[in-house]
Amino acid sequence: MTDPNVNEQGYIYGKFQTGPRTWSIMSKSAPQFVYLLIGDEKAALIDTLYGYGDLRKIVESITDKPVMVFNTHGHFDHTGGNSFWPEAYMSEYAAKEAKRAFSEELQKIAESHAYPDYEIHTVNDGDIIELGGHTLEIIKIGAHSPGSIAILDKTERILYAGDELEAGQVLLGRTSVPEHLESMEKLKSREAEFDFINSAHNGTHLTKDYIDDFIELDRQYIAGTAKKLDSAAGFGWADSAEGFGGGGERYNYNRAYFVIIR
Ligand SMILES: [Zn+2]
Repeated sequence: MTDPNVNEQGYIYGKFQTGPRTWSIMSKSAPQFVYLLIGDEKAALIDTLYGYGDLRKIVESITDKPVMVFNTHGHFDHTGGNSFWPEAYMSEYAAKEAKRAFSEELQKIAESHAYPDYEIHTVNDGDIIELGGHTLEIIKIGAHSPGSIAILDKTERILYAGDELEAGQVLLGRTSVPEHLESMEKLKSREAEFDFINSAHNGTHLTKDYIDDFIELDRQYIAGTAKKLDSAAGFGWADSAEGFGGGGERYNYNRAYFVIIR
């Protein structure tokens, strides 16, 4: 029988363990990561990639615990694989866009999974999720998408920031920088509770002082003094990238980059 997780380029997903009860699953098609947190009774999967192959199969190669699926926000590169499971947890805003595929091809792939009409449960700021000896908290943030949440793993002291903080670039609308600043300040106020940050794209395990660089970059942009780079291209983002209107303007402070895309 052919393995659904192998295509003409080889394996679609890789996996590696990053904590006593934490695994990263990496997608080969783009430098993108989802995370599997394992409690005594349940596991939590944070984001589900585009829906290629059989994500559920690779998750079940790691744990036989029942899996709660969470989405950091509703963009389809984070929700496309939700339909391998009967239900998913996300913000109210994310629920409005989570089933909207980026293309017809991706829509068809999602509809071919076991649960194309999976049920959505909404989560709110401050919600606590118990996996059994492993506790998570939902922290509402939002700027890249107004529906973003961060997930704080209080047991393993890791913050999952989705697309709101990452090493390549955060994609932002021109008017959403003040919300990004507010989100970063909110995460900063919680920094005693985690040791590092896991992002969805372009590298994983970032030191938590990346938050300081983003706060400074956001402040400089709002003040009109941020350093604009000659090209919007960067790691994981082409100057002429399709989607989000393409192109954009890249700004930088120290290790923080964002690209203004609309
Ligand atoms: Zn996104």
